[in-house]
Parts: sequence; C-alpha cells; structure tokens
Amino acid sequence: MRTIIHVDMDAFFASVEQLDHPEYRGKPVIVGARPESGRGVVAACSYEARKFGIHSAMPITIAFRRCPEGIYVTPRGARYKEISREIFRVFGDFTDLVEPLSIDEGFLDVTGSLCLFGTGEKIGQLIKERVFEETGLVASVGVAPNKFLAKIASDINKPDGLCVVDPDRVFEFLHPLPIKRLWGVGAKTADKLSSRGVRTIGDLAHLGADGVRAILGPHGLDLYRLAMGEDDREVETGREAKSIGNEVTFSEDTADTERVKRALLALSDKVAGRLRKAGVETLGVSIKLRDEKFSTITRSVTLEKPTALTGVIYHYALALLSETGWHGERRFRLVGVTANKLAEPGGHLSQPELFDTGEADERLVREREGRAAEAVDLIRSKFGVEALKRGSLVPGDPKKVK
Ligand SMILES: [Mg+2]
Repeated sequence: MRTIIHVDMDAFFASVEQLDHPEYRGKPVIVGARPESGRGVVAACSYEARKFGIHSAMPITIAFRRCPEGIYVTPRGARYKEISREIFRVFGDFTDLVEPLSIDEGFLDVTGSLCLFGTGEKIGQLIKERVFEETGLVASVGVAPNKFLAKIASDINKPDGLCVVDPDRVFEFLHPLPIKRLWGVGAKTADKLSSRGVRTIGDLAHLGADGVRAILGPHGLDLYRLAMGEDDREVETGREAKSIGNEVTFSEDTADTERVKRALLALSDKVAGRLRKAGVETLGVSIKLRDEKFSTITRSVTLEKPTALTGVIYHYALALLSETGWHGERRFRLVGVTANKLAEPGGHLSQPELFDTGEADERLVREREGRAAEAVDLIRSKFGVEALKRGSLVPGDPKKVK
C-alpha cells in the first residue's frame, strides 16, 4: 500500500501578487492579459475575484465586465518560478519521489518516509506548514493510497485544505462525487452517462465493468477502474526511469496456473532483456495480477543483490505469485512483471569480501548465467527477440519442441 500526496498551491499567481503587494490583500486580483487590450484570458485570480464569477481561462474582457473594480496585473513568470523552486525544495525534504505536474503542483510518494514522520496526514500537515513558513503562501493537500485519489482529495477542501482518504473508506469518499471528477470524463462522456442516469462516480461503479464497456466502449474500462478507486501509476520523478516493466493481457481470462507461470517467465525474460539493454540491474521485482472483475493485486520484493537475469527475476516473480495464495480460484485477465529500484550494475561483484562461501558459489552461478544472457542478447540484437525462446516459452508440450 502506497501513500501518495498531491500538493496544489491555492490561486498561486494571484496569491504571489497579494504576498508581494500587501495592498492587494483581501481584494479581487486578476492575473492575465490587460483588459484594455480586448484580448487574452485570465491566467489566475484570487478567491475574492472568484466571488464575481471569474475563473482562469475566462476571456479577460468578460472578467472585466464582471468586476471592473478588480486589480488587473500581468504575470511575473520569473517571480513565480522563484517561489516554485522554494516549494519543490520543501517537497524534497520529505521524499525523493516528487513528480512536478506544473509550476505549483506535484505528486509525492511518501511511502518510504512514513517511518520518519509518522502518518501521511502528519506529512501533509508538515508540508503545509513548511510551505507557509518558507513562502508565506497557502497550499491544499490530498493524502491517499494513489495519485488519482490524492489529486481529487487536494481539491476537496480548497483553499487551505487537507483531505486524507482512508484506504478502507475509498468508496465512501469517491462514490458520492459527480462523474466529472473522473479523469477523462469530458462534457460529451458526461452527457452520454447522465442520459443513462449515471451522475455520480458510484453510479458508474455500480454498472460493473461490462455495463460501462457497453456504454462507453473499451475506453470505459479505464474509467471503471478509477471509479473503483484503482490507479497503479507510479509517481514519476522524470530524472530517470525508475522501473522497467512489461505486462500482457490474455486473449481470454485464465485460471490456468501453468499459463500464468508461462506468462510470468516470458515477461521476466522481456524485462531482463530490457535491463541488460539499458545497462542496469534491479534490486526490486514486482508482479501485477488483474482478475476478471478488474481488481488488481500487486506484490513486490526487495532483492539482496541486484540482477538483470531472467532466472532470478522469474524466481522472485513465482515466489510473489505463491505469496498471493492463488491456486487457480479466480481467473486473471492480465499479468505484469516490473523491475523497480534500478541500480548501476556490478556493485555486488566488486565486493567479493561480502560473500561467504555459499554465496560465492551462488555468485559463480549468476556469473555463468550472466554470460549466457549476454549471448542471448547478442543473438536477439541480430535476429530479433523471437529468434531465441526458452523451452517453456514455446506454447504447447515442451517435448514436442524441435
Ligand atoms: Mg494551484
């Protein structure tokens, strides 16, 4: 279970103007084009201006008609960027996993920071306090088990909001909300849905995957997963690839353990090949299993030593599969294997003193497989991925393979 925080500054540009110009405080401030120019839009406006029905992206002429007494200012990009850097510096004090969404908004994965700070709620509170101390500006914060829920949560009690979505009460939080809150629901989709009586996210969830697909087509399944509170996208720092993963959707849902294992092997092989191609190894392996009802299980493990070998990744993928306790009770539609915690290769090989004799033997085995893997990569780079398949990747009875 992850803890994701979404931080969004309140009326950012307008708040910076009110911060730098105390005489603007408590007044309608509209940042954007000059009204006398007759063209252009509102970039941001203060909460006082919103009371006049002004909002961002509105033509500036309409804003001026609604509130001629407002304070109209042109944006000062350099100043906003300067404050943005301070805000993101604060985020960096709580986690390395920060994904900027815009100048005043970002996702933080604080899962690994909980042991230092306590709960997600505590971290959210601390971030708000620190941002205010450093910049004098107010942020709204959402804390949730995934990005989608965190983003909705930060918007719920704006301004100066702090909203925590309890992982055990996701539906209570999500289902009463209007359908437009779902990412990817525009006016058209909303109309289509409301003509069928679907107005809240809960209404959509209650249709079931098939019901949603019947109305919206395959695109509807993504919305259905969001309506079920599911979103497994990672916080992407953008600095480098954090993970390499592959997944496969079966042609029909399957409860066949051999088929699932074969898929895990094929995926492990693909992932290992990509790791070696990228010149990295992984210290973490995770698997993902999505069943016929679209609920998703993920399991991850941290390895003792980094690897880029099919056999090792597959070994852990199988261990994770057995950890789920699944023995063919339900059918899966999709499986995935991901190498996370990518690391530069060779770290463990350059420190042989760390190994006792048993591990040294294991190391030799790994080195041997490493050389075999290199040969495989060489052949593949010349003749394509299909040129070499491990025995059990070939469909059908392995004994019949020529
Ligand atoms: Mg904002």
